[in-house]
Amino acid sequence: MPEKFENPIPVNKPLIPEINGSLKRIEEIFNTKWLTNNGEQHQELETGLKDYLNIDYLSLVNNGTMALLLGIKSLDLNGEVITTPFTFPATTQALDWNNLQPVFCDIDPITLNIDVNKIESLITEETSAILGVHVFGNPCDVERIQKIADKYNLKVIYDGAHAFGTIYNGKPISTYGDMTMFSFHATKLFNTIEGGAVAVNDSLLEKKIDQLKNFGMINKEEVGMSGLNAKLNEVQAGIGIEVLKIIQYERIKRKKIKETYEKYLKNIPGVRVITTLENEENSYQYFVVKINELEFGMSRDLVYEKLKEYNVYTRKYFNPLCSDFPWYQNLDSAKSINLPTAHRIVNEVLTLPFYGELELEAIKKICKIIEYIHKNAKKEKSN
Ligand SMILES: *Cc1c(COP(=O)(O)O)cnc(C)c1O
Repeated sequence: MPEKFENPIPVNKPLIPEINGSLKRIEEIFNTKWLTNNGEQHQELETGLKDYLNIDYLSLVNNGTMALLLGIKSLDLNGEVITTPFTFPATTQALDWNNLQPVFCDIDPITLNIDVNKIESLITEETSAILGVHVFGNPCDVERIQKIADKYNLKVIYDGAHAFGTIYNGKPISTYGDMTMFSFHATKLFNTIEGGAVAVNDSLLEKKIDQLKNFGMINKEEVGMSGLNAKLNEVQAGIGIEVLKIIQYERIKRKKIKETYEKYLKNIPGVRVITTLENEENSYQYFVVKINELEFGMSRDLVYEKLKEYNVYTRKYFNPLCSDFPWYQNLDSAKSINLPTAHRIVNEVLTLPFYGELELEAIKKICKIIEYIHKNAKKEKSN
């Protein structure tokens, strides 16, 4: 029987740069007394991110939810937006706050993203956009989604909170669709403690989002639309610059961790790794498996509990499904009968500990524990 970890292994650890660089930046900020409103740190981070992500137009905001909310607002949509139930609450809440009706579409069992084969049947006169989520950093079927959008004259928005740095078909993920949101929350791959951005492919839209995040002000004396305050402050932007310096090294470490997991999980029945697509460079934000109860001998929920006994902490992303939120219960598209794959997957997915500091020996041990749980589950059953 494998031994329990002495100290808890969390599901993730925020990426934190060595402190001196950040302290120096805070000192600069204090000296200049410019604390927020597009200061030097903000500009430097924006340039750095455009460079790293290979994006022309990007607007920084104070969190990913505001990025989505204001990004959607900038498109002047109305009516219905087709989206996925298998996502974080913020995705559909950003629609709610724009008075848009989510229409839930089932997901693809392999990529876990919106099932492109089921989108067209949900389009009505009221549909104005498709909101896809690149779940666990794997791209949606962006080309086919664009074809559908072109045919019906719809906007395409992506929640790219998991897709920081994802490259697909040789192009940065934000090239696809009308806009892509990123989250820089502490638990995401790249963080500014709290923060986010909207990437767009057009300078006018970028400008509009810049105004929306600053109360809809066009200049000091003109307020052109109903905006909000969603500005990223200088201290967080400054820390973000320091995090950005170490991001590539972190991703290289995570790539190795992913490969180690894959090697040691490969032969355990009922454990399937969510793999990346062939022509994709993944973000390396999460490491995720699906537990097939029949083959593994135990449900995902029990595996989650058992791992805790070994001091290994995992997460059941995204449980519950957004379609199960109380305020959507009158929607036809939210009924479980219409979302069979999402309802199956939500009981199978488990994200395992994943962060650059995680030692290869610890990963081996986590895999050994999972294997032991599997073997014991079978034994308990046959007794
Ligand atoms: C984290 C996350 C968000 C919200 O981003 P915040 O920066 O926390 O507001 C939205 N969508 C998905 C898929 C996320 O994982």
